[in-house]
Amino acid sequence: MDKKDLRSLTLDRLGEELVAMGEKPFRARQIFSWLHGKQIKDIDDMTDLSKELRERLKIKFTLNNIKIVEKFSSMEDNTVKYLFDIGDGILIESVLMRYSYGNAVCISSQAGCRMGCTFCASTLGGLERDLRAGEMAQQIYEIQKDTGERVSNVVIMGSGEPLDNFDNVMDFLEIIHHKDGNSLSHRHITLSTCGLAERIYDLAERRLQITLAISLHAPNDEIRQRTMPIARKYSFDAVLKAAKYYADTTKRRVTFEYALIKGINDSRENASELASRLRGIMCHVNLIPVNDVEENGYIKSSEKSIKEFAQVLTDKGIETTIRRKLGSDINAACGQLRKRYKENRGV
Ligand code: SAH
Repeated sequence: MDKKDLRSLTLDRLGEELVAMGEKPFRARQIFSWLHGKQIKDIDDMTDLSKELRERLKIKFTLNNIKIVEKFSSMEDNTVKYLFDIGDGILIESVLMRYSYGNAVCISSQAGCRMGCTFCASTLGGLERDLRAGEMAQQIYEIQKDTGERVSNVVIMGSGEPLDNFDNVMDFLEIIHHKDGNSLSHRHITLSTCGLAERIYDLAERRLQITLAISLHAPNDEIRQRTMPIARKYSFDAVLKAAKYYADTTKRRVTFEYALIKGINDSRENASELASRLRGIMCHVNLIPVNDVEENGYIKSSEKSIKEFAQVLTDKGIETTIRRKLGSDINAACGQLRKRYKENRGV
């Protein structure tokens, strides 16, 4: 049987494991704070545990360390893209973005993805595997270590569909905000989903203070189904209903992401329809000029259409922002780095 990854256990689970080993429950807090507070990478680094206990931990658990394989720094802004090996040569990517309010990191929740959105590079090779909670946390720890700067905001918007890896993502959220660990406020975390409606209800029931972002990318079912296979499983209305439930339950404003693709979803009529569909939901729309991915032939909307689209929404009372593009010179966008790396290596 595979050994459990020690870094992926919540404090409660760690406590249960230690009690089962005949240890005192307070040891759990001690180990948790080594792993997530001091963020050590070797069981032997826990110097206030007896050698005997460390040996017993090594028999039962592993520390599945992810490693930086490449790092690309943008010359245009301060964005840095990290490529991590999570074991068995499987690669994931994370992006560090520096803003005036602090450092934000975009983390991956899965290696690859099985959602199949036609504009997205992360899903081209399908799903490789789910990430464990500790592997999500360690993307943040490694970037903090590499820069010597604290990460204040996290977006779960790298490769993968977080609600398709629900339990591990929930464990990650519990671990990362614990005061004995990295102590990151849930209010500074955004989880982005392509709209797994049932899971949005499950998430709402947890009553976390995180921000939910939903990748909508269309004003109706017909257009949404053209680019997002998941739209055939959950209708536009089902997704909006779940979003409203989330906002009403958590009192947190939902973000709708909308990538503008020339000639597909970027007309004034599309904007107008979107505005009327979103009425009554506590929300905000984030417009994203689509990043070109060679495989799909989509082209980003012109700046003029993006501005017009935003204006229609604003005029109809929907709060709207246009996402600033960071790191375009380092392929920092959506699954592109990992893809390029694999191509160059002939993998
Ligand atoms: N699976 C989740 C999170 C990962 S994708 C989700 O779908 O939300 C993060 C965001 O990047 C999503 O809004 C996704 O639709 C968007 N995205 C993917 N490919 C893109 C591209 N080529 N250009 C612009 N945004 C893209």
